[in-house]
Amino acid sequence: MINNTLIQELIHEIVNEEEGVPVVECLMRGSITDEEIAEKTSLKLNTVRRILYKLYDAGIASYKRSKDPETQWYTYTWKFESEKLEKIMKKRNREIVENLKELLAFEENNMFFACKNGHYRYTFDEAAENNFRCPECHEKLEYMDNSEIIQEIKEELRLYENNGSEVPFNFRSYS
Ligand SMILES: [Zn+2]
Repeated sequence: MINNTLIQELIHEIVNEEEGVPVVECLMRGSITDEEIAEKTSLKLNTVRRILYKLYDAGIASYKRSKDPETQWYTYTWKFESEKLEKIMKKRNREIVENLKELLAFEENNMFFACKNGHYRYTFDEAAENNFRCPECHEKLEYMDNSEIIQEIKEELRLYENNGSEVPFNFRSYS
């Protein structure tokens, strides 16, 4: 089972279908044919193939083709490319960490004012420009404590900095 939420996120991003995770889980257990995946997941063979192709396109699955000497049919045996997944995931997490750090700096370096009618919140400068009145409804803008938002960003940061795991994640344990 993939219990790392960031890997799940990444697979959803690549495959963009609910069925992506179960297919990847099959691959992670070892080399397998598309027919076997369909059997194990109870998914349609076409769905499995479509997902495998997307994974192949992203470089996190590869296949070997072999011909059955009796039936002359081709068999496709699929393999999970854990190192590539690790690479993609670390790059993605680095980008998210950068964004979160920018967001955190913005929250920490600004004071915010909000309208109690639920309209947008404003930085000090924006609020001052509007004489501390909401531009939408002219209600008085009030100081808004953003320490909870800061806390949430810090937690997200920790998650992505550790690649989604409390203990540094070992991808190779899957292959
Ligand atoms: Zn307002």
